[in-house]
Amino acid sequence: MKVPYFDLKCQYASIRDDVLAALDRVCQNASFILGDEVAQFEREFAEYCGVKYCVALNSGTSSLHLALLGSGVEAGDEVIVPSNTFIATAEAISYTGARPVFVDIDPRTANIDPGQIEDAITSRTKVILPVHLYGRPADLDPILEIAQRHGLTVIEDACQAHGAVYKGQRVGSFGRAAAFSFYPGKNLGAYGEGGALTTNDEELAKFARAMRDHGQSKRYFHDVVGYNYRMDGFQGAVLRIKLNHLEEWMAKRRELAQLYRELLSDAAVELPQDDPWAESVYHLFVAYVADRDVVRQELENRGVQTKIHYPQPVHLQKPYAALGYHPGSLPYTEKACERCISLPLFPEFSVQQVRYVAEALTRVVEQVYEAAVK
Ligand SMILES: *Cc1c(COP(=O)(O)O)cnc(C)c1O
Repeated sequence: MKVPYFDLKCQYASIRDDVLAALDRVCQNASFILGDEVAQFEREFAEYCGVKYCVALNSGTSSLHLALLGSGVEAGDEVIVPSNTFIATAEAISYTGARPVFVDIDPRTANIDPGQIEDAITSRTKVILPVHLYGRPADLDPILEIAQRHGLTVIEDACQAHGAVYKGQRVGSFGRAAAFSFYPGKNLGAYGEGGALTTNDEELAKFARAMRDHGQSKRYFHDVVGYNYRMDGFQGAVLRIKLNHLEEWMAKRRELAQLYRELLSDAAVELPQDDPWAESVYHLFVAYVADRDVVRQELENRGVQTKIHYPQPVHLQKPYAALGYHPGSLPYTEKACERCISLPLFPEFSVQQVRYVAEALTRVVEQVYEAAVK
């Protein structure tokens, strides 16, 4: 059996007529940038997330950037962030001139360990930026409590977690603002680049709307130096269609993830725990294994494609070398990066494919273990 890691083509086949009609609408109206479809999407996505405002942007990275700028983060400030994430989380901090201060993960959840946040707070700290990694909500209550006690702002990186629920409430609605990515491979993916900032703060929403459009509040009158961070009309149109399917696709991911969990329960792999207070949307299904690269090659030999999220933690990446971290600085994060393997999982994936992958992985880790013992 050949098992692809991901396949967007079969999803397109299922919504093709709607997508083509929507793209045609955008062309007929010549509303290629922002426009009606984007404005409608903003309303629909805000409602979906349970927030007052959604500002559609050109990427998740831009959304993080504007959330930080709008929270007053500037050169010399510090932002507390996990290192077990995609580099964009840290890059957005760097764009403001602030410094990312990396905190280790709780190894059971792979998300930032709230218990280690207070030690990282200094007089320069402005923001705590948890990431809902793999689509699993970070433990927000203790983070919000610490932030309140120290007068800090919380911004959520929800780029992998559209629709994930923390204690009955959708992520993206807890911090002062949240960033979402609509990169094509995300659970809610555009047909190009896209992102959004969500917030309940009217001032912040206004700020983001101006900043995405060259800092103008009135056409050709510019109050500040802004950016070109606008969303394309095509992306708004596609996202509206896909948002209508998100719940159904998410249910599919959860069902298949649950099956993976059952089938892998006796295998020599570790899985991040499913917390009772959190509903993951399983953007990624990550397992932790010994001799990861060997396991990956053996799976490839059996026709199973996998990926690594992420092979190197952000604190050990070259752009952050000057911050003085070294191997061993964040042991749990580093261990996760050495051992993680992302198994194929997407809504159109079949039960049969999950069974095949789970069985292949179980066999492979057994073999690798036996070889190591010998
Ligand atoms: C995808 C992603 C981003 C960046 O989003 P883009 O739309 O690619 O700019 C940021 N943070 C995390 C955790 C992501 O997964």
